[in-house]
Amino acid sequence: MGSPISCETFLERARARFGDRYDYGGIVYKSYKTPIAIHCRLHPVKLIAITPEKHLQTTGGCKFCLRQSRIRMLERELQRDAVDRPDRLASSSPAPTLPGPAILEASSAAQLTERVRQSASRTD
Ligand SMILES: [Zn+2]
Repeated sequence: MGSPISCETFLERARARFGDRYDYGGIVYKSYKTPIAIHCRLHPVKLIAITPEKHLQTTGGCKFCLRQSRIRMLERELQRDAVDRPDRLASSSPAPTLPGPAILEASSAAQLTERVRQSASRTD
């Protein structure tokens, strides 16, 4: 795996990954696998204890940022769904409309229901 990651290398990588999001001013760097204490600048209320290794492998360790990124992902997913739906409707054949006479010929509500069900299942 090569030489151990120095404090400088860690900070370089961390800044490349997170930019200015985390505050590394108070860290005491011992090794790549020894937890350090950092602050998220957006959510400084909580001190984050995390190993440099984990910090670089995850969203950084801030639970609030993690939650926000999950919400963003969910929102993207929902938006994609909303965009997809009209496409699906447009690509499928238009829903068949019941011809008027057929409705008149249907002698009972049960028959009419059956017709509607059949025409509905045809679109599947
Ligand atoms: Zn945060």
